[in-house]
Amino acid sequence: MSVYRQPISETGAIITWCPGCGNFGILQAFKKAVNELGIEPHRVAIVTGIGCHGKLANYINVNSIHTIHGRVLPMMTAIKAVNKDLVVVGFAGDGDQYGIGVGHLPHVVRRNPDVTLIVHNNTVYGLTTGQASPTTERGQVTRTTPWGQWEEPINPIAMMVALRASFVARGFAGDVEHLKYIIKEAIKHKGFSFIDVLQPCVTFDKLHTYTWYRQRIYKLEETGHDPTNWEEAMKKAYEWGDRIPIGIIYKEEKPTMEELLEPIKKNPPLAYLPLQPKPIKDLME
Ligand code: SF4
Repeated sequence: MSVYRQPISETGAIITWCPGCGNFGILQAFKKAVNELGIEPHRVAIVTGIGCHGKLANYINVNSIHTIHGRVLPMMTAIKAVNKDLVVVGFAGDGDQYGIGVGHLPHVVRRNPDVTLIVHNNTVYGLTTGQASPTTERGQVTRTTPWGQWEEPINPIAMMVALRASFVARGFAGDVEHLKYIIKEAIKHKGFSFIDVLQPCVTFDKLHTYTWYRQRIYKLEETGHDPTNWEEAMKKAYEWGDRIPIGIIYKEEKPTMEELLEPIKKNPPLAYLPLQPKPIKDLME
């Protein structure tokens, strides 16, 4: 009888993800991307949210924050605002980002910080044992939808293309090399980069298996897709079912938060200068 030994990460922490979980592929693709881009670990800051994916903060030797539920984007934006030289990458879950954290998406697009968000989309709340999430498909059976999900799922790609996010892509955790390519392009892109990753949850999602995805996905860069064409990107965003596109779906150059804030930081209008604190004795009178 073979015994499964949980792997040890580069930080010495035991990796507690289920054997075969798609999170392994995302971690591997990210590490390869950072190595190949030649970015030193001290220049990388990662933020993770709440969910199985959140443990990733413990498994890699870079600066990391494991933040509260749904708040990966505000934390990433704050880090970039105070230290624009850091390479900031966020990891969130589908429940984390498209549920409690969904309200942050339009506002991060408006600000356009030069950061990358990677969403581990496994269509369930895995950490809490398989409840339906915002991306659970209609008819999908989960712990909270034993008769099948009746709500319409969120389409994260369509949402982000509609918002005109600066970079929108979809990856697959079962194709590490392709995901690495997308992550590298996202990090190199100037502005907010969004990647939704199809991540099989081998324990609680019996529908979206590796085989299910492999029978459907195809790579956009092999089709001549032009990611700068918004109308074409919208069409690709709604393609789901027998054929699922992965790759860079939409791209647009826009000024970044850091560029827009720089002149204000250098020359703040008088009205915004911090008020001088009054001596405590004046306050007491
Ligand atoms: Fe991965 Fe699902 Fe296990 Fe969580 S419950 S570690 S998402 S396989």
